[in-house]
Amino acid sequence: MGLTICDVGPRDGLQNEPETLAPHVRAEFVNRLADAGLPRIEAASFVRADAVPQMAGAEEVVAAIERRAGTEYSGLALNEKGYDRLVAAGLDRVNFTLAATDSFSRRNANQSVEEAVAAAGVVIDHAELPVTLTISVAFGCPFEGRVDPGVVAELAARFPSAEVVLADTIGVATPRQVRALVERTQAAGVHLHNTRNTGYANAVAALEAGATLFDASCGGLGGCPFAPRATGNIATEDLVYLLEGDGIETGVNLDALIETSVWLEGLLGRRLEGQVYRAGTWAGGR
Ligand code: MG
Repeated sequence: MGLTICDVGPRDGLQNEPETLAPHVRAEFVNRLADAGLPRIEAASFVRADAVPQMAGAEEVVAAIERRAGTEYSGLALNEKGYDRLVAAGLDRVNFTLAATDSFSRRNANQSVEEAVAAAGVVIDHAELPVTLTISVAFGCPFEGRVDPGVVAELAARFPSAEVVLADTIGVATPRQVRALVERTQAAGVHLHNTRNTGYANAVAALEAGATLFDASCGGLGGCPFAPRATGNIATEDLVYLLEGDGIETGVNLDALIETSVWLEGLLGRRLEGQVYRAGTWAGGR
């Protein structure tokens, strides 16, 4: 087997929502996801709180997590300082992100791709924790348009010790592009957005191309910073429904995940983007 769903809702999802939830609420979110059987959860972000106020109090979040056997808890770091904080907090895995284009990298991280590669390399070379390297705007960039797959492949090849994830950050990819880039890079995973309603078709394409790691967020939390009126991450429960219906085991309890989305909807006071939590499961499905 080896299919892993990583729920990125508590970090990537909430970071791109207008509300700021208190650390204990974010920890409860993580705990609910773990109870639903998620094999991996991106729990917190160790970037400066002044840069991303929604993610302030990462240490408090991690301290309030009730560890569940079988769940791996990861966090985001962008430099050595963030990595050290993440290790001290006691997470299991570090997620590094760098962009495929200079324009995006400079806007997002105030450094060129080469500078970001060097910075990531320093930490990855010394990391005791397993490392995921997410390449953002791997398919398209809001400033540079379509991204050359060769550039992404070269970037991925520079991190042989890391698990590489290809991110469709602005939600522009289509299935053939996803299939081709996963095959070419041999990337372990994909981080897909449903901005233009291609997210789930892209997930199937990635699966068929050999990807084994799928980022998704409960309820489809997380917007698209470059398409403010659009949805962001694919919804975890929608992905689980699709995979399980096709006979692919995810280890995730769909009912528990749906309950978590309903809880989130109540917390945020608005409808979320996911569809399965509203439609419900279907008795004939499994
Ligand atoms: Mg995302």
